[in-house]
Amino acid sequence: MKKVSVVIPAYYEEEVIKKCYDRIKENLEKLNDSYSYEMIFVNDGSKDKTLEILEEIANLDKNVKIISFSRNFGHQAAVTAGLKYVTGDAIVIIDADLQDPPEVIPEMIKEWEKGYDVVYGKRKVRKGETAFKLLTAKAFYSTLNKLSNIEIPQNTGDFRLVDKKVVDVINELPEHNKFLRGLFSWVGFNQYAYEYERQERLARKNKISFKENVEACIRWNN
Ligand code: UDP
Ligand code: MG
Repeated sequence: MKKVSVVIPAYYEEEVIKKCYDRIKENLEKLNDSYSYEMIFVNDGSKDKTLEILEEIANLDKNVKIISFSRNFGHQAAVTAGLKYVTGDAIVIIDADLQDPPEVIPEMIKEWEKGYDVVYGKRKVRKGETAFKLLTAKAFYSTLNKLSNIEIPQNTGDFRLVDKKVVDVINELPEHNKFLRGLFSWVGFNQYAYEYERQERLARKNKISFKENVEACIRWNN
C-alpha cells in the first residue's frame, strides 16, 4: 500500500491546530484505505499551547509525529526539517492555518497517480490578502524571476504534493537555508499546477515577514 506523508509547519497556531489536524485527517480518510498516511507537525518554537495540543493529538493517533524546535527558525526551516523525516511515497506540504484547503489533497494525489512528480498549488484568488501583500508578492516574484535563471511560478507558495524521489533530491542538497519553492522549480521533474482558491487565515495574523521573504530570496540567489 502506498503511503502519503503530510508535513505541517506550525508557529503560534493554538487556535487552529486541532481543527487543522481534524480537517487533514478527514481528507486522508477519504482515500478509503487505498493509502496509509502519516502527519508530521513541526512546531517552530511556538510558546503558546500549539505543542501541548499536538502532544495530546499524537498520544491518541499513531499516525501523528511531532518535531519541535527549541526556538523559532522560520517556516522554510520547519518544512525542511519535516522533509527529512518523511517515510511516504508522496509528500504533501501544507500550512497549519488552513489557508491551504486540505480538501485539495485527494485531488493532488489523483494528479500524482497520473505520473506527475510535483503537483504544486497555484492560487486562483487570494481571499483576505491586503493590497500591500498582493503588491509586494507581485513585486517579489517579478524581481526574483528577473534575477534568476529559473522561473518560479507566480501565485504559488509551498502548498504542494511531491514524489519521494524529488524529496530525496532536495534532502541531498547542501544548502542549510533552503528556499523550497525555488529549489522545487530548479530540480525539474514532471510538474503540474493545480489551481485552487486560497482561504482567509482563520486565527492569528500572518507570521512571515516581508524581511523573511526577501532574506530567503537573497540566500537562494547566492
Ligand atoms: N510558520 C512557521 N514558522 C514561522 C512562521 C510561520 O512554521 O516562523 C508556519 C505557520 O504556522 C503556517 C505557515 O508557516 O502554518 C505559513 O505561515 P503564515 O500563515 O504566517 O504565512 P502566509 O500565509 O502569509 O504565507
Ligand atoms: Mg497563512
